[in-house]
Amino acid sequence: MVFDILTLFPGMFDSPLNESILGKARQRGYVEVRIHNIRDYAFDKHQVTDDRPFGGGEGMVMKPEPIVRCLEAAAGEGPRPRVLLMSPQGRLFNQELAWELSRLPRVALICGRYEGVDERVAAYHADDEISIGDYVLTGGELAAMIVIDAVTRLIPGVLGNAASAESESFAEPVLEGPQYTRPQEFEGHGVPEILLSGHHEAIQQWRRGQALLRTKKRRPDLFARLDLSPLDRKLLRAAEEDCEKRSGRMEVAEGPSLCGPGALPCSEPQR
Ligand code: SAM
Repeated sequence: MVFDILTLFPGMFDSPLNESILGKARQRGYVEVRIHNIRDYAFDKHQVTDDRPFGGGEGMVMKPEPIVRCLEAAAGEGPRPRVLLMSPQGRLFNQELAWELSRLPRVALICGRYEGVDERVAAYHADDEISIGDYVLTGGELAAMIVIDAVTRLIPGVLGNAASAESESFAEPVLEGPQYTRPQEFEGHGVPEILLSGHHEAIQQWRRGQALLRTKKRRPDLFARLDLSPLDRKLLRAAEEDCEKRSGRMEVAEGPSLCGPGALPCSEPQR
């Protein structure tokens, strides 16, 4: 898969693209990231890429011509990329969209700066506007990095264990349950005994119950979208009962927002 990044600040991508899984994915050829400096396509003497907004107002707006010339040059060879304009006003980026993008051969990400980008870029040259959340960044570079990171790890072969991308939070709208590793006891807190039992099926069922409980408590919006099977309901009930018992005793360590002081009630009326 090819990512084309259009930016005024190419240096921002140096380290994130070279480290860890992204770095390896590039070395191994799963993804290619091409960085294009928008300023190289500003052909006036001072290579100006922004200007004052028509009608007055604060700040500067990115001019359309350098961006569109940059996009045309970038897209010159190979398949036409899906063009995404990073924008706080765009479609909210989520796991579903990450999966959708991971199946494309090529994606171009336009990184805005200043007060944003001349609207004609969004209207006539972008396929979509993408927001990474309801807050405003100083520029689209970090947003583009987040998209690239989330998409790259879904490309077959990038993660050592392909199953891990499938099983984790949002593969279906269920948060992953709690995870534990060594030491078995930490600051006086143990780990749930079932995880030490070696009973694979029982562990899977416990995990499923915990995942459903966590989703119900932390993300009722996601929980409402679930179509629970009879087994799911049983596992959720067991997790709630377990949580009720433990929230009094706190024998087993659990995130305080799930069980324990300040936690939400363990069970709510069943749907
Ligand atoms: N004036 C713009 C507005 O109110 O919508 C905000 C411009 S912001 C300071 C500059 C650039 O950062 C945007 O053009 C966009 O590329 C990027 N950006 C800021 N917040 C973002 C977000 N939540 N998601 C994606 N891109 C964002």
